[in-house]
This record gives sequence, structure tokens and C-alpha cells, in this order.
Amino acid sequence: MNFADLSQKELCQQMEILGLPKFRGKQLYDAIINAQELDEISVFSKELKQNFKKNYPKYKIFKKFEAKDGTKKYLIQFDDESIVECVLMKYKYGNTVCLSTQVGCRMGCEFCASTLQGLKRNLSAGEILGQLYLVNRDNGGNKKDRTITNIVLMGSGEPLDNFENVCKFIELVSAPEGMNISRRNISLSTCGLVDKIKELADKEYGVSLTISLHATTDEERKKLMPIANKWSIAEILEACDYYFQKTGRRFYIEYTLVKGVNDSEEDATKLSKLLKGKVCHVNLILLNPVKERNLKSTARLEAEKFCELLKNGGISATIRRSLGQEIGGACGQLRNKFISG
Ligand code: SAH
Repeated sequence: MNFADLSQKELCQQMEILGLPKFRGKQLYDAIINAQELDEISVFSKELKQNFKKNYPKYKIFKKFEAKDGTKKYLIQFDDESIVECVLMKYKYGNTVCLSTQVGCRMGCEFCASTLQGLKRNLSAGEILGQLYLVNRDNGGNKKDRTITNIVLMGSGEPLDNFENVCKFIELVSAPEGMNISRRNISLSTCGLVDKIKELADKEYGVSLTISLHATTDEERKKLMPIANKWSIAEILEACDYYFQKTGRRFYIEYTLVKGVNDSEEDATKLSKLLKGKVCHVNLILLNPVKERNLKSTARLEAEKFCELLKNGGISATIRRSLGQEIGGACGQLRNKFISG
């Protein structure tokens, strides 16, 4: 058991099991959210700290990189020495942190660095939270004064492939007595695990659902994303409709433009047709280079044309600003350099 995986209520219950007063649970809970190390907690005696040592989270910032645009990439290390990356992005409306949900990934998308090593393991809810707590503290925030307003589950890993821990994370991070981040400010990005999208809809959390589509036909999608062999685009879009029915939230489509692969006029027309009448928004992403992959990005001007074509087709669309490319912090660039060399 790790204390970071528990809600405030569960922590208080644990204290009772240990024969300690309930308020110790609240103190622990706050200390964890404030990313304090056990040694720093002044309200605990030495003996108490000793008692808590085994179960207190030990994740830490292993390294930090800063880009000129203000984006910061963090390597976070866990008890078993595995490392994941998370990224802080500064926008006018607030700060967004991009969190990892798995060490590595087993989805095998052609253009993405996170999958090169395969899946090492799932992260627990507490380990996903820990990334947020550490980044919040590192930027001068605490539980009361958060420096983070938005969360995107778009780091390494496929969130819906780690369904239970991700659900627990969503519940814990939005708890009023915890970080209290509005579920509307949380985006979950998936390559399209249809059964899990429906399960997520049934939970009615109301988080933003983002689909990594990247192609307009199943044949083309299969070339980029192995998951397309399991679920068709039609099935994914039907699951998105279900998500909208259940939550009232519009969904988002991510479409990474790859030169000569999915960026033709015909693709734009097909994409408009697919999405016509749906309550969604398309984020176009310019492919970020991944050195092991031979894919190139569409030029900016071409991307703008593609975006215009979508808009003319009645689809809401924008090109996403890419942040943190020079520190390998942009979409698809997250990898574990320390393990993969
Ligand atoms: N597994 C989830 C979460 C990863 S999110 C998912 O597939 O959605 C990362 C987003 O960046 C996804 O939309 C992914 O398709 C996209 N992406 C991956 N590699 C990229 C690259 N090299 N350049 C631009 N976007 C990339």
C-alpha cells in the first residue's frame, strides 16, 4: 500500500487501523499533496515518521529541462527507479500539465517515441498524482494555491489501457478536499479503445475526451496505428457519440499531419465528411520529429490550408501550438532517454 493512492477518507481509515488518531490522516494527505518529503513534515515526531516510512510516497524529480518558450519537462522517478516524463506548459489561461499514465506504452503507433520500448508497467493512481504534486510544488504551488489549472493525460502511455488506475486518479485529483481540479479541466487522450471509451462514458466524470485519429480510412490508419486492426473508425466515432450523449461534452479529435501520408486535400475532405454534424473540435498537430522514425511533418502553410479546408467543410478546427520541442517535450517525443540511451 502506498499512501498516495488513497483518498483522504481512506487515509484516515488507515490511521484508525494503525491505532492513530484520524487527524493524522488529514496531515498525511496534505503533506502528500504539497509534495513534502517525509523528513520535512514538522507535525510528525521521529517515531511517527518511522512508522509511515514504508508507505509514504518516495517519487521525486530526477531531472528538469526548460525550453525558451517556458515549457518545462520533468523526469519523475519512482520507488522501483522507473522514470516517466511530464511536461508543464504555460498558456494565457493557465498552466497545463501533461501527465504520463504508463511507463512506456504497448500501442505501437508508428510516429510516437513513447512506445519504442514497449510497455514496462502501469502507473498507480498515486504515481500519476505524484507527477502533478511535484510539478505544482516545483513551480511554487501548494494545495491551496495551485500553479496548475489544467491536466492532460497525454504523456507516455495509453490511459485507457490502465483504466482502473486512471479512473481512480480522476476521482482523487478532483476531490474537493484534495487538489480540487475540475473534471472539465482534465483531458484524456486515447488512441481509441472503444470498449473503454464506453466504460468511461458510463462513469460520467465529464472529462474531455480526445481521440488520436490521424487517418481518415481504416486502411490508412492501420499503417500508422496497430490499434486500428482492432477497432474501426466508425466504431470509435460511435463511441464518441455515446460519450457525448452521456456527458454532454463535445469531444476532440487529434490529427497529426504527416507529410505525404495523411495531409492531402482528399484527406481533409474525407475528414470533414466523417465528422460532419458531430459535436467535436479538431486539433491539428504538426508531426514532431522522432529520430527512429522516418516520418516528416507537413509544412506549416500546408497545415493551414488543411485547416481551412476543414473549416470550409463546417468542422471546427485549429492547429495546435507545439511547445517544448527543443527539450523533447512535445507530443510524441516523450521517451525514457535514461533507459533507452
Ligand atoms: N496514448 C494516448 C496518449 C498519448 S497523447 C493517445 O494515443 O492519444 C499524445 C498525442 O500526441 C496523441 O494524439 C499522439 O497520437 C500524438 N503524437 C504521438 N507522436 C507524435 C509525434 N511524433 N508528433 C506529433 N504528435 C504525436
